[in-house]
Amino acid sequence: MRSKTAHEPETSWEIRKHTVWKRLWSLNIKLKLKHFLWRCLQNALPANETLFKRIGKGSNICSCCGDNAETIEHMLFFCPTAKVVWKLAPVKWDGIAELQGNFWNWWVAVMQSAKEAHGLDRIQLTVSILWQVWKARNKMTFQAERGNAKLIVDKAHSEWLEYEACNETNGRPATPAEENGQSQQKWEPPKEGVIRIHTDAALSAKMVRTGLGIIARNWRGKIVKAKGIVTRRRGVPAIEEAMAIRSALEMAKNAGWTTIEVQSDCKCVVSLINSSNRQDCKLQTILDDIEDLKKNFDCCVFLFIPRTANTCSHALAQFVVKSVRIIEWEGSFPSWLSELARKDMGVVTPFCN
Ligand SMILES: [Zn+2]
Repeated sequence: MRSKTAHEPETSWEIRKHTVWKRLWSLNIKLKLKHFLWRCLQNALPANETLFKRIGKGSNICSCCGDNAETIEHMLFFCPTAKVVWKLAPVKWDGIAELQGNFWNWWVAVMQSAKEAHGLDRIQLTVSILWQVWKARNKMTFQAERGNAKLIVDKAHSEWLEYEACNETNGRPATPAEENGQSQQKWEPPKEGVIRIHTDAALSAKMVRTGLGIIARNWRGKIVKAKGIVTRRRGVPAIEEAMAIRSALEMAKNAGWTTIEVQSDCKCVVSLINSSNRQDCKLQTILDDIEDLKKNFDCCVFLFIPRTANTCSHALAQFVVKSVRIIEWEGSFPSWLSELARKDMGVVTPFCN
């Protein structure tokens, strides 16, 4: 093994190796990415230098730059395109740059950040970048298609965001109450005078559309405003969720409300809004807008709520994604929405419109 030194007792090395594998397999990333990392760590990725050493045929020179022996480290960190990728990447590992000459050591150092705030996010995004660098290298090697560093970073970032958002909404097993179609959480009224706004996003890959649902209720639970925004684009879940929150603030600002509470079932976006550390974020511009809009209110808080407590805006987003225009309601609301809002509050009125 590459990073073993002559002085280390076998047992301690074995234990550390075991820990590295254990942590790798427990990461919340796609299986194919775990396999990819495993091969990097075993020096088993078929880089030209590795193949050349193993079978003694072909060239060990990097087909992307034509300048250096293509080791795993050269390919992932030192080849000119890879260098630009890491420069543009929204995740920085400058403190451990000197370890890049040995992938194993570098990875062990990366994994040490797991316990820090957003550490796992940083690690997952990093793996996504490594994977895209490898894919771009293969395109160059086998199809002579030169990769663009900016596109590689964007691809890695959006794949990570998509995986995160999907995991958040689909990864959680349904509770018995959810399976019965019941709302699990009881409506807890906000303080008097507070406007509570629920937001959600719906994506339709088939129709290449995204829908944002925003519904505002007063402290008694009465709907005061609702809006559905449809856009023709193939959205990235977390970005759409953040856009729904931004639109909610714009709506609140235009309505002249001063004390608001915004609730979303997208945990990663809510925690990013509430966090001061947002360095790894493709949502940066949207988060900056949200930060600016916040200044229009005396009080403006952002809360994560489970999906079961967000049925109104969920239904609204699902409704609008199938429509062709932006819809706004004020004063009177569609009966299905009013009914959902009542159910949400635990009021069952089956015959009421
Ligand atoms: Zn190269």
